[in-house]
Amino acid sequence: MATNGIHHVTAIAGQAQRNLDFYTRALGLRLVKKTVNFDDPGAYHFYYGDAAGSPGTILTFFPWEHAAPGRAGAGELQETVFRIPQAAIGYWTARLVNHGLERATRFGETVLTFRDPDGLRLALVGIPGIEAEPAWDNGEVPVEHAVRGFHSVSLMLDRTERTGAILTDVFGFREVAKEGNVTRYAVDGTAIGGIVDLQAVGGFLPARLGRGSVHHLAFRAADDAAEMEMVRKLAENHGLHTTEQKNRDYFRSVYFREPGHVLFEIATDIPGFAVDEPAESLGGALKLPKFLEGHRAAIEAALPVLA
Ligand code: ZN
Repeated sequence: MATNGIHHVTAIAGQAQRNLDFYTRALGLRLVKKTVNFDDPGAYHFYYGDAAGSPGTILTFFPWEHAAPGRAGAGELQETVFRIPQAAIGYWTARLVNHGLERATRFGETVLTFRDPDGLRLALVGIPGIEAEPAWDNGEVPVEHAVRGFHSVSLMLDRTERTGAILTDVFGFREVAKEGNVTRYAVDGTAIGGIVDLQAVGGFLPARLGRGSVHHLAFRAADDAAEMEMVRKLAENHGLHTTEQKNRDYFRSVYFREPGHVLFEIATDIPGFAVDEPAESLGGALKLPKFLEGHRAAIEAALPVLA
């Protein structure tokens, strides 16, 4: 079974309720975990994904009500792209018409680009033959049109060579295509979250992190041993050192800044989101890590109220 590819993408939002409404209602994703930022428990951490919260479908947010807007530029994940059935292109074109929708063709595929309410760049790619894949039914988006996980992410970098070498040597990707200044890397056999595009934009202004920008990109490791093997390769072959492993309850992670300045994470597929609540009711209750459980009353009182 293929275990390489994208694990999750984490971005910065403004208002929590607006973020929740957009991703669960307009985009039709499942809220698979409602917790707090483990490093800043005054803020929520929302995880959206497919029914099971599978790696390769997970977009997460830190909603910081007063975050200043980010600025697009070099050294960031510029666009997060979801898969939809090819026949759903018309449905989504109408549904997202008020979100800055534009239509393009890239690598021979139909792409709809748009923005979330905080300006985060998103896109949908129409894929033939995926109508029968399981999808989350949010009761609003017809299930035959629903999002089926990540298609890809696009990184805008000053230079792409060293980042490309890490994708291929450490994360199991290989270079598969080029279009203009974009090089496409893919993991063989990984249909969901198996593509990373690197766009070379030498001389561009550096990106500034803020509301509507991506905080980090996480790659999959099957388990701790696979993660440690990646850490070893990063050090030995690329001279890059990660943080110590951090327990994020739903996965275990290390972090490092890649040569193009994007913050990368390696996250284990295990134990997954059903570790602290039943799969049927994922995202229902506010979950806290053990070290914060004793402060639950104070944390709940300080968080924004959600409808
Ligand atoms: Zn992460």
